[in-house]
Amino acid sequence: MLNILELQKQLVEVALPSGFEKPQGRLLAQWAKPYVDEVFTDALGNVYCHKKGPGKRMMFPAHMDVIGLMVTFVDDKGFLRFEPIGGHSPAGLIGCTVRLESGVRGSVWADATADIYKHGFGDVDIHDLYIDIGAESREEAEELAPIGSVCVFDAPVTLQGDTLISPYTDDLCGCIALLVAMEELKDTQVENDLWFVFTVQEEVGLRGAKPAAWDVQPYMGIAVDVTRTGDTSGDIDGQRMQVSLGKGPTVKIKDSSVQCNPQVMELLRKAAKAAKIPYQDEILLAGGTDTAAMQKTRAGILSGCVSIPCRNIHAPAEMVSVKDVENVGKLLAAAAKMPL
Ligand SMILES: [Zn+2]
Repeated sequence: MLNILELQKQLVEVALPSGFEKPQGRLLAQWAKPYVDEVFTDALGNVYCHKKGPGKRMMFPAHMDVIGLMVTFVDDKGFLRFEPIGGHSPAGLIGCTVRLESGVRGSVWADATADIYKHGFGDVDIHDLYIDIGAESREEAEELAPIGSVCVFDAPVTLQGDTLISPYTDDLCGCIALLVAMEELKDTQVENDLWFVFTVQEEVGLRGAKPAAWDVQPYMGIAVDVTRTGDTSGDIDGQRMQVSLGKGPTVKIKDSSVQCNPQVMELLRKAAKAAKIPYQDEILLAGGTDTAAMQKTRAGILSGCVSIPCRNIHAPAEMVSVKDVENVGKLLAAAAKMPL
């Protein structure tokens, strides 16, 4: 059995944001190699892991890019101004430690003139925030972090009971679930032709999965991502969700980018029941996934998604259940064996 904590630690250590996924792509390709017939990368950086079968093609994408920040301007005091890469809560960024690609660390803080000092942290404009890398001048800062530099959360990866607390479980744990599925299938000859794909640039608009699905041209696609849960302190904007942490993978019915194809949902529920894997139905009201990009490729592709229930999505301390991650992998392996 793969050690999910260990894999997550190694991925988080090297992971870079959307458009810069090479380091995590390299690791994932290396780990997948023993389980499949071929591994290759396309022009955008999508990593394809192909387990050959004589039957219909099935594609399993999980995005390997993570959210981050990009330095856009260095001011006279040597503070770094930035733009978000992917969806951030500006208030949640204050006080975060970030790591630049070069290894330089910085702390995110807010301008003395920012409204937060008058009105609290509720209404934060991301453009009032800056990264302090301890530079003493503009020149020194520009040397350490020229514009275009990207950074990620620098936060611990820990396990507490079955709960993994870590940045970027979205969607590095989805990538790990693909590895679990590949390992499960390692000694099995499967009828379906299987394509596990670590995709790029999901967080900036589902950009990698579309060309990947065009290339693979699957009969059916099943994406893996995280989903919000309803077992938190309360509903966000009155949006109620039934999903809970630790109660199993979810079979997505819809999110704001996609209505999943009924055939795919049925196949997933059947596979879960046959393999005795607990599952939950999921309706995610806000947020999109690679599922949508796949579905709208070529003349349309039968598409669905299995999600990992996750609390505090896009925070430096997201939470998932390790058991859920393992069961997502097992459910994918069971689905891969279903006749199409
Ligand atoms: Zn995601």
